[in-house]
Amino acid sequence: MKKIIITIDGFSSCGKSTLAKQLAKELNYVFVDSGAMYRAITLYFLRNHVNTDSSEDVIKALTNIELSFEYNDRTGKSDMYLNDENVEALIRDMLVSENVSTIAALKEVREFAVEQQQKMGEKKGIVMDGRDIGTTVFPNAELKIFMTADPHVRVERRFKELYEKNPDITIEEVKRNLEMRDYMDSNREFSPLRQAEDAIVLNNSNLTMAEQLKTALKWVKERSATLIM
Ligand code: C5P
Repeated sequence: MKKIIITIDGFSSCGKSTLAKQLAKELNYVFVDSGAMYRAITLYFLRNHVNTDSSEDVIKALTNIELSFEYNDRTGKSDMYLNDENVEALIRDMLVSENVSTIAALKEVREFAVEQQQKMGEKKGIVMDGRDIGTTVFPNAELKIFMTADPHVRVERRFKELYEKNPDITIEEVKRNLEMRDYMDSNREFSPLRQAEDAIVLNNSNLTMAEQLKTALKWVKERSATLIM
């Protein structure tokens, strides 16, 4: 089967990364969690107190940032590295979640991340999830999926995930953060979150992991079959 580019966009905690990981494993594709890149940039900005009102300071900070993914044998997935430091756990912190949408809305930050994401897709055989992947990063992707899930399902999923690491977290806190990020991501000036016109909607509120994978794999087969070999 010819290798294609698969994009998965949608609101926070719809299960985009889970599906992306499943697809990458099944198809032997590269999986890229673009949100992890924005989270790592945010961590750097917070640590270094970067003045986000100054375009000059933002650009200077970005020149000191090197992002990479490295496969972790133990977890079976790639970890995010910021300047050679494994920041996979740190970038999931609430402090990063509370600031990431502000940092990700900056034009300079978007240009920096999008350029790297586009390079990763040059050889195809990639599945990338995020907010603007089907619209800005890979507007010509062969398969674009827009994921949705009922809001209460999303809040519960994210709460369960975060509670395991931090039992002090409340469901209200998680709900507020998801609502705030979705609002900011959908209303920002540059590359707002929106469904690409040619994206297929996948609502996974009532789907098992196996069912969602089966559905997406059917779409991959259909799209690949229409390509000239
Ligand atoms: O996917 P995740 O929830 O980890 O993404 C964290 C944040 O990164 C999002 O809320 C959004 O602000 C930003 N993001 C983005 N564009 C992407 C991926 C993530 O702006 N392609």
